[in-house]
Amino acid sequence: KAAAHNHFLKTIIIDDLQSGRTKTVVTRFPPEPNGYLHIGHAKSICLNFELADEFNGRTNLRFDDTNPVKEDIEYVNSIKEDVKWLGFEWDGLFFASDYFDEMYERAVLLIKKGKAYVDDLTADQIREMRGTLTEPGKESPYRNRTVEENLQLFEAMRRGDFKDGEKVLRAKIDMSSPNITLRDPVIYRISHAHHHNTGDKWCIYPMYAYAHPLEDAIEGVTHSICTLEFEELRPFYDWVIEECETEAKPHQYEFNRLNLTNTVMSKRKLKLLVDEKVVDGWDDPRMPTISGLRRRGFTPKAIRDFVRETGVSKNFGVVDFKMLEHFIREDLKLQAPRTMAVLNPLKVVITNYPEGQTEMLDAEINPENPEMGTKQIPFGREIYIEQDDFMEEPVKGYHRLFPGNEVRLKNAYFIKCNDFVKDENGNVTELHCTYDVETKSGTGFTGRKVKGTIHWVEALNAVPAEFRLYDSLIFDENGEEEETEGASSFLNRLNPGSLEIVQGFVEPDMKAAEPQDKFQFFRHGYFNVDPKYSKPGAPVFNRVVSLKSSFVI
Ligand code: ATP
Ligand code: MG
Ligand code: MG
Repeated sequence: KAAAHNHFLKTIIIDDLQSGRTKTVVTRFPPEPNGYLHIGHAKSICLNFELADEFNGRTNLRFDDTNPVKEDIEYVNSIKEDVKWLGFEWDGLFFASDYFDEMYERAVLLIKKGKAYVDDLTADQIREMRGTLTEPGKESPYRNRTVEENLQLFEAMRRGDFKDGEKVLRAKIDMSSPNITLRDPVIYRISHAHHHNTGDKWCIYPMYAYAHPLEDAIEGVTHSICTLEFEELRPFYDWVIEECETEAKPHQYEFNRLNLTNTVMSKRKLKLLVDEKVVDGWDDPRMPTISGLRRRGFTPKAIRDFVRETGVSKNFGVVDFKMLEHFIREDLKLQAPRTMAVLNPLKVVITNYPEGQTEMLDAEINPENPEMGTKQIPFGREIYIEQDDFMEEPVKGYHRLFPGNEVRLKNAYFIKCNDFVKDENGNVTELHCTYDVETKSGTGFTGRKVKGTIHWVEALNAVPAEFRLYDSLIFDENGEEEETEGASSFLNRLNPGSLEIVQGFVEPDMKAAEPQDKFQFFRHGYFNVDPKYSKPGAPVFNRVVSLKSSFVI
């Protein structure tokens, strides 16, 4: 496994190990199981696992499942699968909900210390009284309840004596703090909701900002790495660690989140695409989810190399999706067998080739990786080529087939177009060509040259196949605008041409192709056998990426 690039978090860890603050590096990846993981999560996963790995530390997978309404076991399972598929093994597998008892005890401790109180204000009142950057907040009339009263009310909250929203527990810090998140943040709320792990045991649930530092402390996490939007919560993180008197003293560090062009990444938006059936599931090959990228044909290595290259800093940036494509081309280049696939086929009859006869021709499996060897492909009197490889009236510079012109068939012979057949609508349905036996590929024929090489598949043995060609899901060069955009307004920027389905043929050996097998189709790019729509003997191919790119790294 490659070591993570140098960056500020690595420097911090090296310092902490040298100064003795840290004996063993412990990190965690803490997803909330309210959706499938996306490529942004992959960045956090690689960062956490690779940092610990590099210094012989440990990394936990922890489900931050403190919000029962949005969470589901389906998401838990998919997250485990995706982390493993990316190539990482967690040390501990934990659920924040397993710590609810301890979190409750720590909250009781806060009350006893006079550091937390039960508030009867509504969520709206609390928000209104919180103040602004220029205006201090106002204290709640319930702020000075006695410890005794607070203990009784908190116990009653837990027992289920109150309805959702009737009461909350708040940390008692400073209503005039310049950091608004320190103005008595809510740490427990009432929610009579069934929890996927704890069932109906609890009707009060801890808030993220209170729960997270405790989860880290309970697991002995040393470096709690999160994205920059949590920066202003760090003082409260430290407050919780201090006031709850945890044994371990984790620290929070923030880095830039990964943003990508031409997609959306928040789980809320991705879920909307699934619920509105814009896509065929969380694993639709157009989705930036790990499962979508996998089904599209991206490899774990390409994803890991990509997120590593995007760097770790505190600067905001949007990364070009083309950079991810660069890494998958790099990874598949030497691995993916080359083969010919004909999209939008046009039949060619080679009129001087004996009827009912076929022959086997040699084809190199991967010219960039000769060790992969050669294979044999059939050739015969009828073949398919692409409709685009013929023009009745060629435009200037067109070197493929047109009446009177000769081209090379990849791995086979020169053929010359003599005639064509049209249907009643004027569409060309068949070409009549002749081949020249002298020009067989590999014989070193130099008698004359042709300008075009096209690909083909022998008709009798060809396997019918479906090809799914993808374009970006969203028209958007700048990545999503999380703050300014309404919940669903990005749906107005959907690219209606993000999926094109084309029928055609592939070589006979493709009958044996298995879901997730990857190939390079001559001239078309890299393709992956779709695990959802393929049937035995009838493959459906997802285009991972085309062959060429203007992107330079
Ligand atoms: P989203 O906002 O996309 O719905 P989230 O941040 O709510 O995701 P969590 O399940 O809470 O998702 O995230 C788990 C971890 O992944 C967190 O530490 C979070 O900071 C990190 N993470 C989420 N999105 C990104 C991203 N785009 N780039 C880097 N890290 C991310
Ligand atoms: Mg979250
Ligand atoms: Mg979020």
